[in-house]
Amino acid sequence: MSEASLEITDSTSGGAVTVAEVLKRLDRVAAKRALVGRVDGREVDLDFVLEDAAKVRVEAVLPGTSEGLYVLRHSTAHLLAAAVLDLFPGTKLGIGPPLLDDARYGFYYDVIASRTLTDADLPVIEKKMRDIAKRNLKYRRDEISKQEAIRIFSERDEPLKVELIEEKGGATVSVYYIDGTPFIDFCVGPHVANSNRLKAFKLLVISGAYWKGDQERPQMQRIYGTAFFTQEELDAWTKQREEAERRDHRRLGKELDLFSIQEAYGQGLIFWHPKGGAIRRRMEDYLRDQLTKRGYGLVFTPHIARRELWQQSGHEENYADSMFAPTEFEGTEFRLKPMNCPFHIGIYKSHQHSYRELPIRYAELGTVYRAELSGTLHGLLRVRGFTQDDAHIFCTPETVKGEIVDCVDFAYDMFRTFGFEKFKVELSVKGDDATKGYLGSDEDWEQAESALIEALNERAISYDRIEGEAAFYGPKIDIKVEDAIGRLWQLTTVQFDFNLPERFDLEYIAEDGKAHRPIMIHRALFGSVERFFGVLIEHYMGAFPMWLAPVHVVVLPITDRINDYAETVAQTLRDEYGLIVEVNTRSEKMGAKIRDAQLQKIPFMLVVGDKEKDEATVAVRERSKGDTGVMSVREFGEMARKLIETRAVNNG
Ligand SMILES: [Zn+2]
Ligand SMILES: [Zn+2]
Repeated sequence: MSEASLEITDSTSGGAVTVAEVLKRLDRVAAKRALVGRVDGREVDLDFVLEDAAKVRVEAVLPGTSEGLYVLRHSTAHLLAAAVLDLFPGTKLGIGPPLLDDARYGFYYDVIASRTLTDADLPVIEKKMRDIAKRNLKYRRDEISKQEAIRIFSERDEPLKVELIEEKGGATVSVYYIDGTPFIDFCVGPHVANSNRLKAFKLLVISGAYWKGDQERPQMQRIYGTAFFTQEELDAWTKQREEAERRDHRRLGKELDLFSIQEAYGQGLIFWHPKGGAIRRRMEDYLRDQLTKRGYGLVFTPHIARRELWQQSGHEENYADSMFAPTEFEGTEFRLKPMNCPFHIGIYKSHQHSYRELPIRYAELGTVYRAELSGTLHGLLRVRGFTQDDAHIFCTPETVKGEIVDCVDFAYDMFRTFGFEKFKVELSVKGDDATKGYLGSDEDWEQAESALIEALNERAISYDRIEGEAAFYGPKIDIKVEDAIGRLWQLTTVQFDFNLPERFDLEYIAEDGKAHRPIMIHRALFGSVERFFGVLIEHYMGAFPMWLAPVHVVVLPITDRINDYAETVAQTLRDEYGLIVEVNTRSEKMGAKIRDAQLQKIPFMLVVGDKEKDEATVAVRERSKGDTGVMSVREFGEMARKLIETRAVNNG
């Protein structure tokens, strides 16, 4: 569905007219479907009155658009508050915003209810919401003076709303009612005209929250829900959410003993346990091997640097909010690095370069630290300390396109190796917003953009071109990968930089014997090793392919009598085939041993009894296929080794 754009060209009847009336005149169907209107680019209620309609551009915001979804969810948050007020009179309201960028929730409302609410209350509240929605009540806006608003909310004993109005309100403020309910909100809107527009919504969970996130302020309850235009969309979302929960890397990380986050050491800092560490080592080994083959020089650089460096690089100017504060030693201030770029520049600048040496590619598994707010942290996906598979390429205009092609090939090869098949590519270019302060000449931008486009065309990769999404210092390509349940993850970035070469006065001596500026490209493929690990856990649901699995095989003797043989099999597989093998000699029933191995998602179980011992064989059980037959130890060892060497995604 696309958005109707109904521009007014002729003069209307003159005098005041509502947006709904204008839309009706222009397109009856669109007017009927419109959630709200848009006047000169600003969303407004349908009953917004235009003083002179001939002078403005009026459009309909329709279902199926993100603007429409925002209004829908915001209106559903109001519906939620109305239901809570109806069921629990005396409830104090906080704020209730829509959430568009959060895949987990669509909106929330913070409340202090007359009694503590639990998840068991959600169906009751949801039913009340449906009752109100069906009554087709009007969402009514009113503009009143600030004093009047404070009086109304004080009378209703809504101290938090009064606080907001005192802080934010101008001379007049807007309030929204849902007629026929006790609900009134201090809100700029806009909202759907009637409650029956809200048809597909669902409450999800209740959690704790503090007023304004301040632990000194009243503790509140945050009721989360989501809303969509149709029941089909809501059902599809619910299904994917359940699937995502089964795959949640935080839970699997604990169950499989892969990693932890220790609050006592600090939020957003990752501890890799031996099994997670084993997987990371394979990821890094693969990467280092590829980097070497593809002509990168592997470097190591420090974690801190003098403050002046971050001033020269512009990070203090443009990125200070994400950096940890400086620390002082012997009269010199240092800062933790949020990025590796200036360090690789330091290596580049350590001596002069001729055009013959270019392209120069420095790669590093560089650990960086960023001051992310605690509310935004999320398992491995959003952390404060992480390791980028970072690289910086310094090249000439003649070689830049080839470098981009190589980066794209590298990324695709890598993701396919890790078991991803579908990709989405975005090309972010300059927009015409002058306030963005784009650096570099128009010619620089054109050349860079065409190098990116030519590289994508050369590989017949389709992409979305997004204007205005580029950073101020250059255009970029982003590669998103689709996981096993169809979610897209932004991982790879290949980014031009017109800024740092200038700031650090980078040069190379060209064929003409003169100093020229090299082109600088930043690129990270995984992005962050931690985040990619999180994506891998969810993609595979913890059942890693052999080449990544922390334990390859567990040998399960049927009785204690067979323990010696089980140990011999394990030792042979370790010594001759390099496999990581465990033996479960606990005195448990076979069913329990298998269940345990399944829970640990170990790729292969080898069941051994008297018969296997006599014949020097193993009964093979694959974690997803079950029994796959009896093999000699040698046959199994060779099959397993081959799966690892070829980095097979499936176990045969
Ligand atoms: Zn509101
Ligand atoms: Zn960089």
